[in-house]
Amino acid sequence: MPQTARYNSPAEALHATLSSLDNARSRTSRPTPRLLAVSKTRDALEIAAMAAAGQRAFGENYVQEALPKIEALHAQSLEWHLIGHLQSNKADLAARAFAWVQTIDRAKLVPLLARFRPADLPPLNVLIQVNIDDEVSKQGCRPEDVETLAAAIAAQPRLRLRGLMAIPAPAPDMQQRRNAFRAMSTLFDGLAKAHPEIDTLSMGMSEDYREAIEEGANMVRIGSALFGPRPQRQGT
Ligand SMILES: *Cc1c(COP(=O)(O)O)cnc(C)c1O
Repeated sequence: MPQTARYNSPAEALHATLSSLDNARSRTSRPTPRLLAVSKTRDALEIAAMAAAGQRAFGENYVQEALPKIEALHAQSLEWHLIGHLQSNKADLAARAFAWVQTIDRAKLVPLLARFRPADLPPLNVLIQVNIDDEVSKQGCRPEDVETLAAAIAAQPRLRLRGLMAIPAPAPDMQQRRNAFRAMSTLFDGLAKAHPEIDTLSMGMSEDYREAIEEGANMVRIGSALFGPRPQRQGT
């Protein structure tokens, strides 16, 4: 299986990644960030192997791709995060299947997710996705819209505002990415004044999680550094 190019087993990949996170964390005064294992394109067997190694939280980009995996692994009680763009017509499915939606970027999603969150599940954890530096990408709200969106979420008992998420534009220059991470930290600290309950700043991927952690991330989303390189797929 070509699943872990650099490691002999999922357990070895997980432990190496966790110790690398802790190493980056040791250059700050903050606790170790949470690891979200990004499992897009990985099948249920690969995810089960990572779960057996001790990883509980997994991130998926597409509702449709995630549902059969969530179903197949139901007995394991894993924590599923939606980290891809959410279309309004998938809000129903997302609100039922995921524990977290990290990509709320417009007001329209808020009442939809609240309405569809089943009453027998705990409130849905949500992050506001911010377009911090990428004028080309349409994903994420503008930084100046965060407060309004946060107030709308906080007014919904079936949603639980946990913080912010960002995917900075891929810049060849790491300093540029650092600047984006730093701007997110500032935004997060500002939002915490009105919403002291927020506890999650989700940013940093395989290529830049060390810098993200140094700039204040407390959740990093890692795919290829953990599972190995992703197979190419069309349209993404
Ligand atoms: C794919 C993806 C990741 C993980 O990317 P890697 O470079 O494989 O670590 C993180 N966040 C989002 C939103 C993604 O789509």
